[in-house]
Amino acid sequence: MGKQFMLNRATARLKFLRDMERVAALSRPELDAEILTMLPNAIAYARHNSPLYRSTLGGLTNGGTAIKSLDHLRNLPFTTKDDLRARYPYGLLAVSPDRLMRYGESTGTTGNPTSAFMTYEDWERGNVWVERALRQVFTDRDTVFVAIPYELAFAAYDIDRALEAVGVTVVPTGTLNQVCPWERTVEMMRAIHPTGIVCTPTRALRLFDMFVSRGYDPSEVGLRVLFYTGETCSPSKLKKIADLWNVELFTAFGATETNSLALPCRHGTLHLSEDRYLFEVIDPETSVPLSPTERGELVLTSLASEAMPLVRYRTGDIVRIDDTPCACGLPHRSIQHFGRYSERILLQGGSVLRMDVEEAALSVPGTGSYYVLDDESDPPAIGVEVTRQADAQAVLTAVENSIAKACGIQFKALDIDKSLIAQAMDRMLKPGSLSIRHVREP
Ligand SMILES: [Zn+2]
Repeated sequence: MGKQFMLNRATARLKFLRDMERVAALSRPELDAEILTMLPNAIAYARHNSPLYRSTLGGLTNGGTAIKSLDHLRNLPFTTKDDLRARYPYGLLAVSPDRLMRYGESTGTTGNPTSAFMTYEDWERGNVWVERALRQVFTDRDTVFVAIPYELAFAAYDIDRALEAVGVTVVPTGTLNQVCPWERTVEMMRAIHPTGIVCTPTRALRLFDMFVSRGYDPSEVGLRVLFYTGETCSPSKLKKIADLWNVELFTAFGATETNSLALPCRHGTLHLSEDRYLFEVIDPETSVPLSPTERGELVLTSLASEAMPLVRYRTGDIVRIDDTPCACGLPHRSIQHFGRYSERILLQGGSVLRMDVEEAALSVPGTGSYYVLDDESDPPAIGVEVTRQADAQAVLTAVENSIAKACGIQFKALDIDKSLIAQAMDRMLKPGSLSIRHVREP
């Protein structure tokens, strides 16, 4: 049994590798046709096997196989995070439990956690694409630190395994753990000289500062690539981080419920995983479908998930999809991520995405990379690190004007000492979402 089991698994991975190469060579119309061929079967599978969809899609005629177009799909109800919470842990399980090979979960601010699980086939089907992406970024000569959380999530293991397949030397430091705190990561980077690091952008910033404050020269590490994930980041902040470390930036995008949803190519384009998901974009307030090239909430329907199929799942992520063909030749469209709708800043008379405020503030010359938002004060305030102290007030005024112009909201800009907020950031999983609350918390 053991030998056959191993053979079956190796055969499955080979099949997914071959299928990936086939899909990567499709034209855009061919990929569109393939997606629409997979859709009716995927809906019928979910309706037949998932307890959630047996109840919500039970009335579909022909068992769901009549859902053959985006217009048909739009008649089906959305699936929300609340649906997942209400059915925690196994209310969306569509296979026999003994077929599961990986389980993870994430916690929201209230109620049950949401769970996620996959079969070996789900895991491999996604992982071969991660390997393909990382092969364009790293080679077997690279040493890469994986400094994102391994606990209860899939991304770290997914990236770790793919790096291994590429031949990279993997250093699994994790994040926010007792074995490898940031101080140790810094010392290890000095000793081992990684050429790549996987972490959030803000963490890369903090690591740079920790080097400097210890009197170390960050350029002696020889870092070549920052592969950032887990946090959205404005173009201006990314530029500052790339300049500090003198690295190339690549990113990936995903969710615990689905694993990877978009992966980079060698041109840095973030390609959607359209071989495994059908994507829609909707207005997050009214739920009305938008043109994919408009900014809105990403909604996905799984086309190939066995363990946990999802139909019209509202991810809560604000994105824009770009259908401009990429020079790499992949038929998959690309995506820009602007942050989570639930993490927008609510202000009197409206709301604004954190990333828009960040871009407006940090694009002003004379600002550093650190800032903290205070949306509890009136007017809302932003503390920025001013690097040009000679005319600090001019920089702060320019920040206020820049935010007002880009977001239509008058912020009060203040000069902050970054050492005050660094400590708060070091306790956070996503230090880029720092607000005044985190600084005030003991
Ligand atoms: Zn590309």
